[in-house]
Amino acid sequence: MNFEIINPSSTEELLGTIKSLQKEKFRFGAGCTDLLMELKKNPEENLTVINLSQVKDASFTGIKKTTNQFRLGALFTAHKIVINEELKINFPVLHQSALTLASTQIRQVATVGGNLCTASPSGDIACALVALEAQCEILGTTGKTRTVPVTDFFMGPRKTVLKSNEVLYSISVPVNNKLSKNILSGFIKVGTRRSMECSVVSIAYHIQTDEHGNIINAGVAIGASAPTIRFAKEACEFLIGKKLKHISHKEKEKFAEKVLSYAAPITDIRATAWYRKEVLFNISKSIFE
Ligand SMILES: Cc1cc2nc3c(=O)[nH]c(=O)nc-3n(C[C@H](O)[C@H](O)[C@H](O)COP(=O)(O)OP(=O)(O)OC[C@H]3O[C@@H](n4cnc5c(N)ncnc54)[C@H](O)[C@@H]3O)c2cc1C
Repeated sequence: MNFEIINPSSTEELLGTIKSLQKEKFRFGAGCTDLLMELKKNPEENLTVINLSQVKDASFTGIKKTTNQFRLGALFTAHKIVINEELKINFPVLHQSALTLASTQIRQVATVGGNLCTASPSGDIACALVALEAQCEILGTTGKTRTVPVTDFFMGPRKTVLKSNEVLYSISVPVNNKLSKNILSGFIKVGTRRSMECSVVSIAYHIQTDEHGNIINAGVAIGASAPTIRFAKEACEFLIGKKLKHISHKEKEKFAEKVLSYAAPITDIRATAWYRKEVLFNISKSIFE
């Protein structure tokens, strides 16, 4: 691998660097856990890597809670998600997705922004963020930001809505403080091995009830089941108004069928399309058990 590395140390310097490289071939590197693997496989000539990990601004690296959301800087790491107690309580789905990502060592450097921008159908944190209907804040070289729902962020495998003069700045997850206790939230990942393995199939769910146990909000996303992570909208709508504790066997099956309707899996080295569908159906039903 042979590339030049530029190390901007502030957001301002970063935007200047991006601007100056508009006519050149460049890539961003955050934790570089994906990028280095990719460049090893497909080396690129005359490439410059903009190393984001030296940008120390809290807006890029930190977490901030306001009354109705948690804002995670794009450089917030998987490890920081795992150890954050507030995230663990409010969004078990996010906590569990980060905890199942790779290994302790990789989680120290792998970033939430990198997990989204690599746009892998099996991205674990990305899958949880889709279930949570998070919002992506994108920063352009003019210094202006635009917001895109994470459900619209992926254009295809390894393709996002980011333009060449843009960088992912932060991800915001909406929070409803009143409902934080009434949740069924989690992440199920099926892989060929227990660790250091991308999903063969995954499901992320975050279901909220009112004080009577009636479902009033549901977010369900599936990973490694289609060219991009998908939000299973009809499956979510199906749950609204039902009593969480009294979902019948028939309703679980109906829900799983609706989840499955969003899947378009492929057969590859890790699993057949048939196997992925079977597993997805079964793990979808199992979230209520
Ligand atoms: C051994 C191994 C095991 C793994 N296991 C898992 C796993 O279990 N689950 C899983 O989900 N992933 C897994 N991965 C993939 C990887 O670790 C994650 O996707 C990680 O979150 C990527 O983050 P990063 O900061 O390292 O991204 P990088 O490698 O730095 O970047 C990834 C891509 O995103 C772009 N990018 C990064 N940040 C930004 C930004 N702010 N704005 C614009 N573009 C940006 C880069 O240009 C690059 O194209 C594994 C990787 C390895 C090597």
